[in-house]
Amino acid sequence: MDKDALEVRLGLIRDSLGKDTKLVPRKYKNTLGQQVITKWRYRKKAYNGSSMLSDKCKSRVQLFDDLVQESSDSFPEFRLHDTQALLERIRLIQNHTRLLLVEWDVRWVNPPSLASKGWKPYQGRSHPHAVFKCCCCHAIMSLQSSKNDDISSNYNKKLNEKIWLSNVVGNHLQQCPWGKKQFDLDKEYYLNPQNLITDIERIHTDVEKFSSESKEFHLKRNSSRIFHYLTEIEMKKLAHFFNCKDYSLVGLLLLGYTKFEKDDLVQCTACFHRASLRMLEHIDFNGHALWCRYYSKKLLSKMLLELIDKKDNAITTMGVGERLNKLETVLQIL
Ligand SMILES: [Zn+2]
Ligand SMILES: [Zn+2]
Repeated sequence: MDKDALEVRLGLIRDSLGKDTKLVPRKYKNTLGQQVITKWRYRKKAYNGSSMLSDKCKSRVQLFDDLVQESSDSFPEFRLHDTQALLERIRLIQNHTRLLLVEWDVRWVNPPSLASKGWKPYQGRSHPHAVFKCCCCHAIMSLQSSKNDDISSNYNKKLNEKIWLSNVVGNHLQQCPWGKKQFDLDKEYYLNPQNLITDIERIHTDVEKFSSESKEFHLKRNSSRIFHYLTEIEMKKLAHFFNCKDYSLVGLLLLGYTKFEKDDLVQCTACFHRASLRMLEHIDFNGHALWCRYYSKKLLSKMLLELIDKKDNAITTMGVGERLNKLETVLQIL
């Protein structure tokens, strides 16, 4: 290489070093949580005889089994924390038994408790009893229908711990995970401050959905009776929180209901009992099942109002500096 050519190349290198260079994307370290999940998710696996890899490669590359994938392949419907799947099973059970006289009890045997152990209706040929099938091991279980004029009536009145243990828990096949595990109804189904967000999302989504429909969802006749248990100020706060001017709609959603097919018919989003708007206007009427998330009419509104008041107080009592510090802390966490 002659001297001039070398000078040119060195000049080019100097120029390129002087320019701003793009940073190589930084590789983020796995968080502690991810490391723990990875540790328990993957299990070392030996090469089997059919591997085409050379021995040299085998000594350098470790194979792993994905245990999460394996278990979801073996038990496809075992989703222990899937609230939507639970609600769908409750809806199917409620629809399946709507016309059967099954004597549910609040404590042990009812649609949420059956759904929490993986049961859904068995859609076979018509049967005088309510028949259920495990969504995972496909075991079959039946509950007798109550008949007021025969001895089975007494039997069904004692739907209790014994039936729970022998049928609901005991009827699963030995290897079925639903036999030992149960969806946590107290934590995920029944109302508590930790899952209140699901109701905020539900009401917010329904308000948006009904507001955007061309035919507006509105109630007829004295609709304020639907939220008679709230004062005007409380209702105003709640409607403002959901950014909705239609108090009747917010009142209906606060009771856990949503529109169902016809305009005058509504259906609960947790127990799937149905009612007409006219019935909801009766102060003493409670159309929810005893085991429903919304059985206590006032509970959801009370919890939301506490949340709103807490939020308002937090904003008004804090100075600007304090609020900025709080914002900084939140941003740091993000
Ligand atoms: Zn099972
Ligand atoms: Zn309900």
